[in-house]
Amino acid sequence: MSTKRFENQVAVVTGAGRGIGEGIARHLASEGAKIAVVSRTESNSVRTAEAINAIAPDSARPYAVDVADFDAVQKVGEQILADFGRCDILVNNAGITRDTLAMRMSSEDWDVVLQTNLKGAFSFTRAILRAMVKQRSGRIINISSVSGLMGLAGQANYAASKAGLIGMSKSIAREIASRGITVNVVAPGFIETDMTSVLNEEVRKGALSQIPLTRFGAVEDIASAVAFLASKEAAYITGQVLAVDGGMSM
Ligand code: NDP
Repeated sequence: MSTKRFENQVAVVTGAGRGIGEGIARHLASEGAKIAVVSRTESNSVRTAEAINAIAPDSARPYAVDVADFDAVQKVGEQILADFGRCDILVNNAGITRDTLAMRMSSEDWDVVLQTNLKGAFSFTRAILRAMVKQRSGRIINISSVSGLMGLAGQANYAASKAGLIGMSKSIAREIASRGITVNVVAPGFIETDMTSVLNEEVRKGALSQIPLTRFGAVEDIASAVAFLASKEAAYITGQVLAVDGGMSM
């Protein structure tokens, strides 16, 4: 295990039932953090929490909630704060895609992506922020996407949600900087998870041809960037977007 940068700290990670969120939760736990593992599907959050507890006993607890449900998130946020007593790091990672060309995009495709990716991140931030302000410390890291920086065909809904996260993050960063809380964004490129495994060979080849570092990213590439932004070393960084994309968006 590497140095324990997050000893005695509590991290809330949404969408931690699998994929990038699970990788972030495991990484922060490996550096000593206690983890509130949040997912939509209970069995997924339970599985991640059990995997973490098998390595670091009693350090993770599972929570199941739809991040797009304001009232439910408020309740889960209160529960997490009651269970752990504090929150030092919030990673808003839960997200979905409903890719299709704008001409064919249904109202439901638009709404569900904006609600999950953008409203979901606002919802959890609001639920946790007061506790961070009282502590006069905290780190909020929102997971955007290269799509939010560059736009990608077939992702009008997704790109809007991910670009929206950047504006939201900068606004909140300005509101709470004086309280010792930083808000930053990680914008992953093409990372190997369930989200990208559904893409066909042609789309994968097309994506690969746009990545200067000539490979898709791994979950750990994102987790280590998040850990940096959550650490003391990043204390003077706020309102920034860190693209972790093999050079795709430069
Ligand atoms: P996955 O599809 O592998 O996992 C998504 C996670 O989000 C799951 O844990 C899922 O919960 C959770 N989730 C989805 N909707 C909700 C909801 N309404 N409420 C609560 N939790 C929800 O995605 P990735 O790991 O690939 O992506 C994670 C983040 O990274 C997303 O925000 C995505 O947009 C972003 N990203 C991913 C890229 C990639 O290439 N993979 C590239 C750029 C950005 P459950 O497991 O319970 O269903």
